[in-house]
Amino acid sequence: MDRRKALKRIGIGASAGLFLPSLLTSCKDDEDPKPTIDYNGTVIVIGAGAAGLYTADLLVSQGIDVVILEAGDRIGGRVKSVRGFADFPVELGADLLKSQNSLFLQRIQAFNLTTVPVGAGRESIFFFNGQALPAADWQNHTDFVAAQSFINNISSYSGEDKTILQAAQDVGLDPSVYRLIEGQMAESLGTDSNKVGISGAKSSTNLSSNGVDIALANNPVEDIFFSVFNHLVERVNFNTSVTSIDYTGEEILIETNNGSFQGSKVVVTVPVSILKSNRILFVPSLPEPKMTALSRIGMTSAIKVFVKFNKNFWGQNVLKVFGGNLIPVYTSIGPEISVSNRTLMIEVFGQDADALRVLSDEDLKSAILSDLDQIFDGKASLNNDITGLIKMDWASDENIQGGYSYPLVGGSDNDRIVLADDIDARVYFAGEATSVQYGTLDGAFESGSIAAQNIITHIKEEKSQ
Ligand SMILES: Cc1cc2nc3c(=O)[nH]c(=O)nc-3n(C[C@H](O)[C@H](O)[C@H](O)COP(=O)(O)OP(=O)(O)OC[C@H]3O[C@@H](n4cnc5c(N)ncnc54)[C@H](O)[C@@H]3O)c2cc1C
Repeated sequence: MDRRKALKRIGIGASAGLFLPSLLTSCKDDEDPKPTIDYNGTVIVIGAGAAGLYTADLLVSQGIDVVILEAGDRIGGRVKSVRGFADFPVELGADLLKSQNSLFLQRIQAFNLTTVPVGAGRESIFFFNGQALPAADWQNHTDFVAAQSFINNISSYSGEDKTILQAAQDVGLDPSVYRLIEGQMAESLGTDSNKVGISGAKSSTNLSSNGVDIALANNPVEDIFFSVFNHLVERVNFNTSVTSIDYTGEEILIETNNGSFQGSKVVVTVPVSILKSNRILFVPSLPEPKMTALSRIGMTSAIKVFVKFNKNFWGQNVLKVFGGNLIPVYTSIGPEISVSNRTLMIEVFGQDADALRVLSDEDLKSAILSDLDQIFDGKASLNNDITGLIKMDWASDENIQGGYSYPLVGGSDNDRIVLADDIDARVYFAGEATSVQYGTLDGAFESGSIAAQNIITHIKEEKSQ
């Protein structure tokens, strides 16, 4: 049997060569491929984001019947790309890969797509005490040096747990540096410094990945999803929002706004905001340890904005601008992926995002211009203007309701492990919030991989009994 025909028979498409080399090489010419696992049940996957799609892909590749329920009308979840706004694909959700060992990076490399390290050789500007200067020019300023040292030492923090802002206050940092801390921390952790717990945050992948972020040079991240997971689309029930999961009986009963479904196992990959909002009723309710873990994980508003200018006034070689009153960090898209290099990206979370949410696009443009004018001494609006703005408010997407998960005070990586635990080898959990690499695509993929492996192990155990 030829390779393409074999792929069709076992229900896998573009991703096969990437995920299943062993299955394909074991397929002899004179025999049809059979499912690796002969399982009569159906696995229901809830959510068609990175975690749900990867779980489904791994299960389908083993011949397991999978049905995907997705509340929205598209696959990708917090991956969303836009072409045509700028001279590069705009990523309204995930854009950077945080690790060289990324499962997703391996997929990208298998497609021979060009990736670029972001920010190598560029420098950041710190707006502080009324001046916008690179870090090197602030090295004699005690308050600035103390703030940077505080940030650098978060990963080795060993004191009592508290918010990062509280910790900054307790070590006596001058309030003038709080905005710099906000810019550097919020971007890494996806929330305000007065919400995130320092003990839980210290192991965050996003903190430790500084300097090795990798971006696709030309291709939208969403396109990779469409290519890799295209074969799963026929299994997705779109606009199907799960309202309850009843796992009291032998079959698990799932109610949605679009009818009822039954499965022998279910994988829940919805954002933690949805789990915390009780939008899905679990019968019986989730076990106490899981509820406790959930209470220690937060998710706040997130807004991503891209602003195009007539000209680049911040500097061709600038990576980030920290310390704005309105926006604590601006990121210059930069020459690695934008030839014109005239676009700034804004990624704000929590209170800063809430402040932007209420503004119309026109008011937002004016507010950004005056924020940047303050930092750059009027240069933002001098013979210059914003020629385009695109905004994604993730909190207003009712199926996402925020940015990504972060540890609250008292939280630790153990909460992720508890949240990921399955219930009786029937109800499984995946998604970025269930991974110690939370807040990342890598974490979402890893969680999907673990859920799929656990399901496969449990099915094999059940069959051998
Ligand atoms: C602004 C922003 C920037 C980011 N930047 C990066 C980055 O640079 N690098 C990086 O690695 N990561 C980044 N991330 C994080 C990354 O996008 C996420 O970690 C990852 O995409 C999460 O995948 P997931 O499958 O866990 O969840 P999602 O992608 O959220 O998928 C969950 C799915 O569940 C669906 N759903 C919700 N409720 C229901 C229901 N009741 N019934 C059925 N379906 C439901 C949703 O519609 C959604 O499609 C960013 C995220 C945001 C928001």
